[in-house]
Amino acid sequence: MDISQIINELGEDRENYFNAVAPPIMQTSNFAFKKVADLSKAFEDEMGGYLYSRGLNPTVDILRKKLAALDGAEDCLVFNNGAAAIFAGIFANLKQGDHIVSVKAPYTWVQRMFDVILPRFGVTATYIDGTTIEKWENATTPNTTFYYLESPNSWDFAIQPIQEVAALAKSKGITTLIDNSYCTPLYQKPIEMGIDMAMQTATKYIGGHSDTLGGVLCGSHEMMKKIFDSEYLNIGSGIQPFNAWLLIRGLRTLPARIERITKSTAEVVAYMKQHPKVESILFPLDESFPQYQLAKEQMKGACGLFTFVLKTDKREQVVKFCESLKHIMMAVSWGGHESLVIPKCAGIKPADFDPGNKEHRYIRMYIGLEDPVYLIADIEQALASVE
Ligand SMILES: *Cc1c(COP(=O)(O)O)cnc(C)c1O
Repeated sequence: MDISQIINELGEDRENYFNAVAPPIMQTSNFAFKKVADLSKAFEDEMGGYLYSRGLNPTVDILRKKLAALDGAEDCLVFNNGAAAIFAGIFANLKQGDHIVSVKAPYTWVQRMFDVILPRFGVTATYIDGTTIEKWENATTPNTTFYYLESPNSWDFAIQPIQEVAALAKSKGITTLIDNSYCTPLYQKPIEMGIDMAMQTATKYIGGHSDTLGGVLCGSHEMMKKIFDSEYLNIGSGIQPFNAWLLIRGLRTLPARIERITKSTAEVVAYMKQHPKVESILFPLDESFPQYQLAKEQMKGACGLFTFVLKTDKREQVVKFCESLKHIMMAVSWGGHESLVIPKCAGIKPADFDPGNKEHRYIRMYIGLEDPVYLIADIEQALASVE
């Protein structure tokens, strides 16, 4: 289906709500029944209709249909945030004694799940540099049942050969989940590449305005039903109707925003690359990127996020740069209208800062919807302030 049709029409039933162009927010917790037989049917299959909004809700369903179609998936569940989507997708597919192979340095709360929560249930994880298929093969043990991918990673943009990892997993009966937040389905469609579940945080590009959280999990209907009937209803982290409505609104402008951000990011990256105070830059579709070829093969585009390293070994200079920006704000998250910066060293105790470790000097930047000329001027004056 055409992306414009998905975004503007799919799932919307305007004749049922006064031909309103924007859908109503079905702000209801429960749904009434006239017949006991119908109520019984809803108890038996809660995913087959509307019973209670911890399960399904009509506003949320409009969003589900659009997001599943964007990913080329049969079905989709939308959560209150991305971390919940990942938690449910992983937890639903594990049992005691299972082993996970995961890319190293996955999203913070995924790492916490693997390191702290799952070991309590006898599940272990091995982290690998997942850049080649051999690394996945070598880390797989007889009890490996799950592969966790994040491609690209949201700090160093390391990518995995998605099709090969998916094929290896299929041959061994291993379930796969990928964090596709960086690309969104506009730039990468992992389900079509053979991955079982594609996750993205809707907090970032789909919401697009830094005013709501959401998480998307796409896959087969069978997989989504399995998750719905257990983790989804039990954790109770399904998205609320108002937030779903905000995400439908965000979707309307997603392609236009992504296009603008892609263009602006390329301009800012080009500026940074030639600046004498910038040591190096990490951006998956830049020729200097170590996995540039693979990135070009499997990603239709790259936007928003890049990481750079200042030509300095001093923590103070990194701090100085970040604090000298006048318009670009310092905050976690990304994908909104506003450009952001975050230094890796903010999460490292000053005494542990090791200038020899390039990662400690990483500064991540997100380019939003502002005029790139305005952003570059801000970066220029901040770079001028560092030694
Ligand atoms: C933000 C983020 C998440 C988590 O999403 P939330 O909506 O904040 O829970 C997961 N993965 C990546 C790469 C992210 O940037």
